[in-house]
Amino acid sequence: KAKDHGRNCFQFFTSAMHEHAKARSALEGALHRALTNRELYLAYQPIVGQQRLGCEALLRWHNPQLGQVSPADFVPICEELGLIITIGEWVLYQACAQAKSWITQTGQSLFVSVNVSSTQFKRQDIASLVAKVLKETGLAAEALTLEITETVLADNSGHIQRQLETLRAMGVGLAIDDFGTGYSSLSYLKRFPLSKLKIDRAFIRDLPDDEEDRALVSAIISMAGQLHLTVIAEGVETPAQLAFLQELGCDYTQGFLHAKPGDAAQFEAFIQDYNAQPGKATEPTSLAR
Ligand code: C2E
Ligand code: MG
Ligand code: MG
Ligand code: MG
Repeated sequence: KAKDHGRNCFQFFTSAMHEHAKARSALEGALHRALTNRELYLAYQPIVGQQRLGCEALLRWHNPQLGQVSPADFVPICEELGLIITIGEWVLYQACAQAKSWITQTGQSLFVSVNVSSTQFKRQDIASLVAKVLKETGLAAEALTLEITETVLADNSGHIQRQLETLRAMGVGLAIDDFGTGYSSLSYLKRFPLSKLKIDRAFIRDLPDDEEDRALVSAIISMAGQLHLTVIAEGVETPAQLAFLQELGCDYTQGFLHAKPGDAAQFEAFIQDYNAQPGKATEPTSLAR
């Protein structure tokens, strides 16, 4: 009996694994074609501060068979397949060209934040790629931020360190993304030339009620300030969360409260609303007229 049961289990697992492998290779094939079929595009989510407005470029994939696939699902596969190199270059170029066009249109000092995966840092000379893309698009280095995760910084090779230093020297912003999750080590903040820190939304979710999260977030904001890091809170969904973060002097907030990630036209509309807010006018001369 036990043996039968065992065999059934075995059959179940092999067929489940087979199904999984089939689904997986279908996904891989579809991903290989995604770029040439123009199924990839970027969504932009506002990053709101008192002085300046920015946005994060977020990769999107719409496949005719699979529908909308989440980057949380397909980005890791792109990394394994090495596809993230090509796709990452496309993302960077696209985001910089878009930001340049917005800055030209609005005359405003916007910035764009682009996610860069650890594979890109390990397998590529990101600093040279960024220099090339900035030159080709005409975007100022100060208008670009790269978001990196702790996985990038956990790599001990001098290669990462040198690239980050070159990028900072160029004037490109460097943000540590999802701060506080994963294998955080505070020594990263000292060793690498970071300029921004993004508090993971896990710490924001239960604000302002959760006492521990209140303590953690207020400590992170105060530490970031003393380290001269610009601090951004992710996943801000409620006015109460925003009020709490502003009270603590958090520099920027990002989340569904301001806007969900949207297309370029939606971000343009957001810029207009932002400028129309009382006390937010960046060009007093236009108000006087
Ligand atoms: P991330 O860089 O931490 O991006 C923030 C994620 O939080 C986005 O998910 C965004 O839609 C979501 N989000 C923003 N505000 C809120 C909120 O108020 N509430 C909640 N619940 N969620 C919010 P998304 O777009 O699904 O992206 C997931 C992850 O995929 C990103 O996390 C990033 O790690 C990765 N990713 C996205 N685009 C790229 C890319 O171009 N390159 C690389 N390497 N990774 C990317
Ligand atoms: Mg990010
Ligand atoms: Mg994040
Ligand atoms: Mg995240």
